Amino acid sequence: MSENQNFDLIVIGAGSGGVRLARMSAQRGARVAIVESRYLGGTCVNVGCVPKKLFVYGAHVSEELEDAGGYGWHVPREQVGFDWPTLVANKNAEIERLNGVYRRLLDNAGVRVIEGSARLADANTVVVGDDRYQTRHITIATGSWPVVPELPGQECILTSNEMFYLPQLPRQAVVWGGGYIAVEFAGILAGLGVETTLLYRGEMFLRGFDDDVRRFTAEELTKKGIQLRFGVTIESVQPEGGHYNLSLSDGSRLTTGLVMAATGRRALTEGLGLTDVGVELTPSGHIRVDEHFQTNVPGITALGDVVGTPQLTPVAIAQAMVLSRRLFGDGQGEMDYNHIPTAVFCQPNIGTVGLTEAEARAAGHQVRVYRSEFKPMKYTLTGRQERCLMKLVVDGDSDRVLGAHMVGPDAGEIIQGLAVAIKAGATKAEFDATIGIHPTSAEEFVTMREPVADA
Ligand code: FAD
Repeated sequence: MSENQNFDLIVIGAGSGGVRLARMSAQRGARVAIVESRYLGGTCVNVGCVPKKLFVYGAHVSEELEDAGGYGWHVPREQVGFDWPTLVANKNAEIERLNGVYRRLLDNAGVRVIEGSARLADANTVVVGDDRYQTRHITIATGSWPVVPELPGQECILTSNEMFYLPQLPRQAVVWGGGYIAVEFAGILAGLGVETTLLYRGEMFLRGFDDDVRRFTAEELTKKGIQLRFGVTIESVQPEGGHYNLSLSDGSRLTTGLVMAATGRRALTEGLGLTDVGVELTPSGHIRVDEHFQTNVPGITALGDVVGTPQLTPVAIAQAMVLSRRLFGDGQGEMDYNHIPTAVFCQPNIGTVGLTEAEARAAGHQVRVYRSEFKPMKYTLTGRQERCLMKLVVDGDSDRVLGAHMVGPDAGEIIQGLAVAIKAGATKAEFDATIGIHPTSAEEFVTMREPVADA
C-alpha cells in the first residue's frame, strides 16, 4: 500500500456535506480523500438548489415584463419571446463554473479527489474501481435520489433530475406531489408559460408549513393560473403520440405533454456495501446515526440527506462542521436542529422559521397570533392582484416569538434576517421596539400590533 493510498478520512460523496467536511478536516491537518461518482457539488449544485433558483429567476421575468407597463415601459407582447434552450445552456455553463470552483476549493485545501463509485470493504478500506484505499475514518455523505411510485407507465414520468435538462418545454404539464419541490416546479413551469396542473393525494399541499401559509399559497398559485387538484393521485400513464393520458384515482382522465413526479426521495445507499460491513439502516432506509453522526460501526460516520435529517444544504453543511470538529478539532460540537429557517421559491415565495401555529398549540403554548395580509406596494401601479401574508406566532406567557411565516416577494431573504432574532429569543415587545425600514414589506413584521381575534 503506497503512502498516497492511506488517509485519516475518506469522505464518500462530494455534495454539500461531504465537500465541507473534507475541506474543513484537511484544513485541520488531516490527510483527506473524497470520492465522487457523478458531479462535484452534489445535488444542490447540479440538480437542486442552484439550477432550481436560476429557473425560478427565469420564470419570474415574465411577471416583471407584465408589470413593466404600469411603470410606463412599453413592452409589446408580440415582441416578447422566450427561448428555453438558452436558459438551459446558460444554467449549464454556470453549473460547470461551479463544478470548477468546487474542484479548486478541494485542491487548494489539499484534499485528494477520487472519481468513481465507492464501496466499503471494511471499516477502514474503501474500494473505487480496482483501487483500495486505507483510512482511519470513513464518512458516508451520498445524499438522496428521487422516487417515482410504481404504476403502469412509470417509465414515462420525469423527476427533478431530468427537468433540469429538458430539451424543450411542453405546452402542458402535470406536476405530481405536494412538497416544496413540486410546488417550486409548478411555479417555474407556469411562469414560463406552460399550462400547469399540480396533483396531490392529500387535502392540502405543503404539509408541515403553517396552515395559513398553505391556504394563502394555494390561493395565490390559483390566481396565477396553476390548476391545483388535491385529494387525487395518478393511477396510470399511457403515452400516445407526443402526449400522455393519465388515469386518476377519482376516475377522471387528463391529457398532458409532460408528467413530473416530486413524490419523495430515498437515501442513496446502494452499492456501498453497507450490509457487508454491518452498518444499520432505519426502517425508512436512511443510515442510522447517533447525534454525533456515528453509525453502529466504529470509524464509520454519515451525514446529510442520507441520514434522514431535514434535507437542506445548510443542514448538511452545519453537520459537516460539527463532525469535522469532533473528528479532527477539539472533539466538541453539537448540532442544533431548532429554528431552521427555510424557503419555498414558488411565486410568491414562502419563508418560514420556528413553530407553526398548530405546532405551538400542540406544544402547550398559550398562543398569540399576529397576521397581516396586504397588496405589496410594487403592485399598486401594475394591477397585479398578488397579495402578501405575514404571520407571527407568539408565546402568550413569555412574549417570545416562536415562529415567523411569510408568503410574498423575497420572503426567503426577509425571513433569514428574522431567523437570527428568533434564534436569539426575541420577544414580541422587542419586535415592536424595532424601527421599521420604510417603505418595505418587511416593516410589517415590526408594526403588527393587534393579535388576531380568532386565534
Ligand atoms: P448530495 O448533495 O446529494 O451529495 C451526495 C453526493 O454523493 C452526490 O454528488 C452523489 O453523486 C455522490 N455519491 C452517491 N453515491 C456515491 C458513491 N457510492 N460513491 C461516490 N459518490 C457517491 N436545499 C436547500 O437548502 N435549499 C434549496 O432550495 C433546495 N432545493 C432543492 C431542489 C431540488 C430539486 C432538490 C432535489 C434538492 C434541493 N435541496 C435544497 C436539498 C439539497 O440539495 C440537499 O439537502 C443537499 O444537497 C444534501 O447534501 P448531501 O451532502 O447530503 O448530499
